[in-house]
Amino acid sequence: MAETSMNQPDPSTAALADVPDRNCTWCKVPMGKRLVGGGRYIHYTCPKCIFQHTTKREKK
Ligand SMILES: [Zn+2]
Repeated sequence: MAETSMNQPDPSTAALADVPDRNCTWCKVPMGKRLVGGGRYIHYTCPKCIFQHTTKREKK
């Protein structure tokens, strides 16, 4: 199979894998997450109550 087009490294995806999961404060379900602000901030969104939370990424 030709999967060369699928193997391109995606910086945003790689960075997102390094982002810790966060559960919704009220629903206690894993929130969706994506990087914003050029990858400096993490934007969490709850799939149930649509609660949103943005936090700044901590540098290691
Ligand atoms: Zn929620």
